[in-house]
Parts: sequence; C-alpha cells; structure tokens
Amino acid sequence: MKIRILGCYGAELSGFNTVSFLINDAIILDAGAITSTLNLSEQAKITDILVSHSHLDHIKDIPFIAANMVGITHHTINIISAEAILTYIKAHLFNDAIWPDFAMLPTPDAPIIKFQRVPTNQDIPLHDITIRAVRVNHLVDAVGYIIKDKMSTIVYTGDTGPTEEIWEETNREKNLKAIFIETSFPNRMKKLADDSGHLTPSGLAGELKKIHNGSPDIFILHTKPQHLPEIKEEIGHIGNPRVHLLNQGESFQF
Ligand SMILES: [Zn+2]
Ligand SMILES: [Zn+2]
Repeated sequence: MKIRILGCYGAELSGFNTVSFLINDAIILDAGAITSTLNLSEQAKITDILVSHSHLDHIKDIPFIAANMVGITHHTINIISAEAILTYIKAHLFNDAIWPDFAMLPTPDAPIIKFQRVPTNQDIPLHDITIRAVRVNHLVDAVGYIIKDKMSTIVYTGDTGPTEEIWEETNREKNLKAIFIETSFPNRMKKLADDSGHLTPSGLAGELKKIHNGSPDIFILHTKPQHLPEIKEEIGHIGNPRVHLLNQGESFQF
C-alpha cells in the first residue's frame, strides 16, 4: 500500500497543509490538501475520497476538485463516509448556496461526485484495499479508518479525543504496520483539547496504552503548526522510539 502525505496539520499556514493522504494514487483519505498539491492529471486519477468527519479542514478541497474535474474526467468520484457525516456535507456544503450540488452536475445521470454511505465496523472492498469505518470520539459524528491490503494494515484515527472502539478493533487486526493518530494541542491546552474532542501528548500516551498488537510505527498528525515545537518536545518526553511526527510530503510503502 502506497501512501503519500499531502497534508498532515491541524491548521493551514504557508508550508503547512491540512490533513490529506493519497493512497495508491487513486484514493484520498480526508480532503484537506488535494487541489493545492496535485496537478490536474493526478487529480483526474482520484476515484474515491474517504472522509473522517464533516469539519472544514477535512472536506475543504472536495468542492475544488469537483469543479476542476468538470469536462476533464468521465468517472464519478465517490465521497465515502458514514451516513451522518455525508448528511452534514450534503446539507451544509453541496447545497447550491455554499457550492453547487456536484452530485447533480453536469447532469444527474453522470455527476462529478456521488455520496457513498458505508456501514461502520465492516470491511468494505475498494479497489485493491479494504476500508473499515470505526466511530471515534470527536465534537461531531466522526470515524477513523482501518485500511488493509494483502500485506499490511494501517489505522487512521482522524480527529478524536480519548476513544475505545477503534483500539478494540485495531487489537484484533493482523499485519498491523502503522497507526496515524492525531495530537492537536500541547499539554497546557488540555481543557481546549477535551472540550473540542482532540488529544494532547499526554492524551496520546494514554491512547497508546490501549494498543496491544505488535510494534506498529505511530505517526502523529493534525498538530497545530503554531504549537509544533511545544508538541514535539512533549511527544519526545513519552520516550517511545516508534512514535514519529508525520512530515508533509513524505511517502510510505506498507
Ligand atoms: Zn474536527
Ligand atoms: Zn481537523
């Protein structure tokens, strides 16, 4: 499984894109940085966009890739998530007021995007991989994803505070290679992290204690770039050599 990190931060600043991964050149995991990082032919290869939740930093490039693909691609891009999350996106984004409803354009029979609801806690085949949406604990309905191919399993939390279900499922998986987990704020901002459904480095340490499945690499994402040095130092204090801050632009082969 090939993963390219198009963006991995919890805010947007020059040089810091919001979260977006490109999987096997065709599947996007969260839409925080598609159109500013991929050229037109790379965007035309996108067939599916997995969404963790409806917050703007995770969906903001869906409108722009949809607009870019008019007259360029003949396939429909599937916007995939749990039902509640898709309902928010349809109601509040593709509602003709904020952006045109590209699920009806250019024609209702051959639209640019289609919303594909997936049940939680079930493996769903998608090209060469399977995806499983699992509920996590955020300010709104939100899921993480367990993503597998024949060789490897990776876990992506999306935005979450302390959570349980995704770790119970993770602990049952084979071939677990990597966990991508959020850590948004430094420890001194714990109250804000708690109130907004995010983790601090000490919260991260608590989550890592729930994982009992081999020795996967742990990659930290959704850090707020304005607090990055502080978060980095506090993550260092956890003292786990398998924990790495994720870097924008890096690629992995699992
Ligand atoms: Zn969020
Ligand atoms: Zn976010």
